[in-house]
Amino acid sequence: MNPSDPAFYHPAPRTQKFCSQCGHTLTREIPPDDTRMRDLCTHCGAVHYQNPRNVVGIVPIWGEQVLLCRRAIEPRYGKWTLPAGFMELGETTEQGAARENQEESGARVQIQSLLTIIDVPSVNQVHLYYLADVLGPELAPGPETIEAAFFDFADIPWDELAFRTVSTTLQHYLQDRPQGRFPTHHYAIDLRFPG
Ligand SMILES: [Zn+2]
Repeated sequence: MNPSDPAFYHPAPRTQKFCSQCGHTLTREIPPDDTRMRDLCTHCGAVHYQNPRNVVGIVPIWGEQVLLCRRAIEPRYGKWTLPAGFMELGETTEQGAARENQEESGARVQIQSLLTIIDVPSVNQVHLYYLADVLGPELAPGPETIEAAFFDFADIPWDELAFRTVSTTLQHYLQDRPQGRFPTHHYAIDLRFPG
């Protein structure tokens, strides 16, 4: 598909079969005065809009090392990742990143500046990664993590990383580190293409 094709940025929505208002089976159509296909309830008239989800995480730095977690869940079971996950209702992006780290690595951290904002329209997500200082070496990984471990920057397992948002975020950190300045990087990734 060509990036100039309008469908390029309109990937398949998450599927929802029944109306959460009345339980009736949903249809997919373009409502009046709208321009996109929606899940529509012909029984009660509810339109079930779908919007991108935020994934929030951190880049936990301990001296000359970065803390990574090995995933105990699909997708990418057994691969290494930065602590991150879906933002919950009622929390800020920073609170969500801190919570995900607590759940996945258990490391005590101080969150710093926002390092990356990554649009991933092919899966309807936006990923946000904060820099974070690790405050101590104690780890307490939760059930979604096989193990958590500190890696020297030279030993980051690039071929065993779970997601391109993770590898590109780590690349930005390592590129910025010699300057000691960490501006926010905003870019897009299309997961349907390699590289
Ligand atoms: Zn309904």
